[in-house]
Amino acid sequence: MPRLTRRAFATGLPLGLVGGSLLGGGLLGGGLLGGGLIGGGLAPALAATKDPAATPTAPVSVTPLSQICIGRFTVTALTDGYADMPYDYFPGRTPAEVEQAATAQFTARPSGVRFLFNQYLIEDGERRILIDAGPAGSIGQTGALPQALEAIGLQRDQIDAVIVTHMHQDHMGGLIVGGRNNYPNAEVYIDRRDVTHWTDPAKQSAAPDYLQTSFRMAGEVVALYPKLQAIDGEREIVRGVSIVDLTGHTPGHIGVRIEDGGQSLIMVSDMIFPVVHPQATDVFFLFEQDRVAAKAMRDRFFPRAAAEGALIAATHMPFPGLGRVVDDRGQMRWQVADWALQD
Ligand SMILES: [Zn+2]
Repeated sequence: MPRLTRRAFATGLPLGLVGGSLLGGGLLGGGLLGGGLIGGGLAPALAATKDPAATPTAPVSVTPLSQICIGRFTVTALTDGYADMPYDYFPGRTPAEVEQAATAQFTARPSGVRFLFNQYLIEDGERRILIDAGPAGSIGQTGALPQALEAIGLQRDQIDAVIVTHMHQDHMGGLIVGGRNNYPNAEVYIDRRDVTHWTDPAKQSAAPDYLQTSFRMAGEVVALYPKLQAIDGEREIVRGVSIVDLTGHTPGHIGVRIEDGGQSLIMVSDMIFPVVHPQATDVFFLFEQDRVAAKAMRDRFFPRAAAEGALIAATHMPFPGLGRVVDDRGQMRWQVADWALQD
């Protein structure tokens, strides 16, 4: 089992990310504290504060992060932020069905399903490899990844490699936000099928509006990262860090497997979406062009992951996005990997 470091959970979200919602009307305000779980406990204690010097302050301004060890690797889950995905972005189910499922899982918001954008940093003491770079403000309440890296003492120029799991804007925006090469010392790894697809003018002109940002960003990534390495098929990036072919969501959608000392973690990116997966595979995300291929990959992956008890990291699952697919009497479901059960 993976081992967790002591530096595991820093809680609280950056002020810019949360705005007033978490304290004001969100988790604490009307929910958990107000009338919910700990209504009779913590809330009166806070309300009884009289000393102005002890006025409750804003939440500590750090981004959430979580660290686990996979053999000699330290893997840090970071997040660029979140956004609400409209209920009609899930072909295969009606908006009402998606909203009902999201409500049942307490991830429903008025404008859609709340989605995380998680990234993962892999360190082996020599190299720092980042998986994905986040939407960087191009979607929802995002752009916190640089701050999250700073929270563990890192600047973007200290990242040696970035593996981009596919060329959707929410996975590569941070590479080129501001029109700059934001990871100047990083080799960038992207599957060649995605590089080819997303830089093809014919594909771009035939694509719907909601994919145009990704096409534009792909062009910028290619222009700004001369060290871009288009990768062909499954291969090792460094010893113990391998590319896994998970084509379907996009032509060159890949995962990253981290393995050492009998422990492993597979980062599956958009193989699994919150609320709808892994319970079903006949439900999709709007941005998926090839639904037949996406379904085929999930039909193969979910049962195998359940049989193997694979520890999974996923971009859009609730932070830190670590869990397993489990077969619960014939029904697939997501089981959060409890931080305290990692050793
Ligand atoms: Zn995504």
